[in-house]
Amino acid sequence: MGARPASLFPETAPEPVPRVRVVLPLPTGNGYDYAVPEGMQVAPGDFVVVPLGPRRMIGVAWAGEPDDSVGDDRLKPIAERLDAAPLSSAVMDFVDWVAAYCLSPRGVVLRLVMRSGQALETKTGPAAYALAPSPPLELRLTEKRRAVLDAARGRPKTASQLAKAAGVTDGVVRSLAKAGALEPVELDPDIPFAAPDPSRPGRPLSEDQAQAVAELRAKIGGGYSTTLIDGVTGSGKTEVYLEAVAEALARDPSAQVLVLLPEIALTLPFLSRIEDRFGAAPAHWHSGMTSAQRRRVWRRVADGNARLVVGARSALFLPYTNLRLIVVDEEHEAAYKQHDGVLYHARDMAVARGARQGFPVLLASATPSLETLANVEEGRYGRVVLPSRFGPATLPDTRVVDMRQSPPDKGRWLSPVIVSALNDVLSRGEQVMLYLNRRGYAPVTLCRKCGERMCAPDSDTWLVEHRYTNRLVCHHTGFSMPKPEACPACGAHDSLSPCGPGVERIAEEARERWPEARIAVFSSDTVGSANAARDLLERMTAGEIDILVATQAAAKGHNFPGLTLVAAVDADLGLAGGDLRAAERTYQVLSQVSGRAGRAEKPGAVMLQSYQPDHPVIRALAGQDRDGFLSAELDGRRSLGFPPFGRLAALILSGDNETKLMEAAQTLVAAVPHAEGVEVWGPAPAPLYRLKGTYRIRFLIKSERRVSIQTFLRAWLSEVKIPSSVRRTVDVDPYNFS
Ligand code: ADP
Repeated sequence: MGARPASLFPETAPEPVPRVRVVLPLPTGNGYDYAVPEGMQVAPGDFVVVPLGPRRMIGVAWAGEPDDSVGDDRLKPIAERLDAAPLSSAVMDFVDWVAAYCLSPRGVVLRLVMRSGQALETKTGPAAYALAPSPPLELRLTEKRRAVLDAARGRPKTASQLAKAAGVTDGVVRSLAKAGALEPVELDPDIPFAAPDPSRPGRPLSEDQAQAVAELRAKIGGGYSTTLIDGVTGSGKTEVYLEAVAEALARDPSAQVLVLLPEIALTLPFLSRIEDRFGAAPAHWHSGMTSAQRRRVWRRVADGNARLVVGARSALFLPYTNLRLIVVDEEHEAAYKQHDGVLYHARDMAVARGARQGFPVLLASATPSLETLANVEEGRYGRVVLPSRFGPATLPDTRVVDMRQSPPDKGRWLSPVIVSALNDVLSRGEQVMLYLNRRGYAPVTLCRKCGERMCAPDSDTWLVEHRYTNRLVCHHTGFSMPKPEACPACGAHDSLSPCGPGVERIAEEARERWPEARIAVFSSDTVGSANAARDLLERMTAGEIDILVATQAAAKGHNFPGLTLVAAVDADLGLAGGDLRAAERTYQVLSQVSGRAGRAEKPGAVMLQSYQPDHPVIRALAGQDRDGFLSAELDGRRSLGFPPFGRLAALILSGDNETKLMEAAQTLVAAVPHAEGVEVWGPAPAPLYRLKGTYRIRFLIKSERRVSIQTFLRAWLSEVKIPSSVRRTVDVDPYNFS
């Protein structure tokens, strides 16, 4: 062979193509490398548009080492770098941390940050007019024109705003623009938020409140800490943490503060409270926003203008530039746990965020979670205590009605003891809440002839009768059907009968017993929208309702001054079942409900109908012995090694093909790694084994606290290949066991 032509073998290797890792908001691993075209500068955090197959997508340039396994020749170039504020390194660090903690691909967590689809699009604002800086010298001034020019002082306004303010037609405005007296300008599409003013005085504080505020203020600016504000309902926890918010805002003019609330229904009165305190409405982030509202909040958080954000759990993932304080109100609420996508718990992620970025986190509750209390006991979290209600309000007396001794009449649900208490309260013109955490009319529908229990199709869930809509509804799958006239199993007519009560049935009994009373039902079926909820809450607050029959939806946070009796129709509901937190949750919700009574001058009472009056939860509620209950519950968990003393994770396999599902489960069983301090239970059919034709199997993994359950899971799952027809979900710190 002769010598090869030299030109095919240049002396120097080609320059490597500059590349950067781009994470896309997709469930596909940790991102891809892209080539940075010549002349383009890309830094970590920049939003970029990249090709992905036939599509173009917005992603984020990520810090860290690119992946050399893709050769330069196969790299695709970044199409465009967007002219938007880059994601801060703090937010990227948080995304990485949440992804690792929840065993989620980074892209799925990034999707939580990029949820506002339109936020990165450039958008022109509406056309508006301002007074021209040099108006024409010879302008014919009519009265109408003068009115428009008066209205145009101050910030720019649209033609129709000006016309409306001046009481003229749009034509007058346009003629002034044509004459050069008004100048066209473009309004910002994302109106800035007014700045909160932390120097406005708060309310005078009680001695306990002032003490708590002093302790909290000392934490602001002092780096990371987590503090529990532990105070009975109505003690002024909100009042107290608003002072800490004021301190954080005052200390650093660019600081941002996030207040997390578990439910939108709670936020509406809260927003006006914030406005009273700081003279400006906060940015409000929740699931019911329009895309324009979403965009405005997102961009204003990203450019640092929105300094105070009040939101639901997903507000944790907004692109803050300088987050300095997070408050998690009602920290014990299960609503902080996300149930699809990334299965995170917002309280725990808030604490992690504070710890990683060196700022304080405040958790407020009247019934703190066991996790938080254990952290307080072990000295990881601080605590300030507000032991009594503010002002003259006192905590209600609690009494247990033993249903074995005073049972209701046949076909009824209220014990004679409760009925007579209601008679008294109503005769005094005061209000009552009948609490039952069960939507609909009856939880189960049975055939009296053959015993058939009505279930949703292809599911193991019961159908709940709803009388208002006359349908049978599955609360898990959303399936509903008209109530059939004949039993689908045996064909018997008129044999399907409702078993047990829901709120609609209790309201029916109340209407029969107190026909004069004004009765309303508060459940997610009757108050579907935030407006409907507000309307009902306002009527209750104004004393226009005598008896409110309510589910958990009305249990929290509200102040009803005329409410003096809360009766729990079935206080035992929720005590049974295999849920680790059943007793804790029952205790919390009944305390919250009880906390609705006697919030103002009139003292309140609470009555609990129970068939198990000796159950520790019921006894603790009756004795108002929160600490007694909690320490018993903590002892129980400690002896079993359950959270907060150990760690739990669930692995759920689901799929339409039962055989494939079982095979996948067996493959997993065979691959369980041996690890000290870790136990794997299962596979077991999930309590809701069949849901809409999909079968579900669960593993429960329990580890000692010193063990990283994530490392164990990663090692285990990387060993096993699961067919694509089987879906695998990992839930670290599970709250849902169904
Ligand atoms: P919590 O958050 O503990 O339930 P809140 O902060 O909502 O308590 O206070 C309960 C009620 O008492 C509210 O109506 C609140 O306005 C009132 N309140 C609390 N502290 C004060 C105070 N220092 N001055 C005036 N009203 C107060």
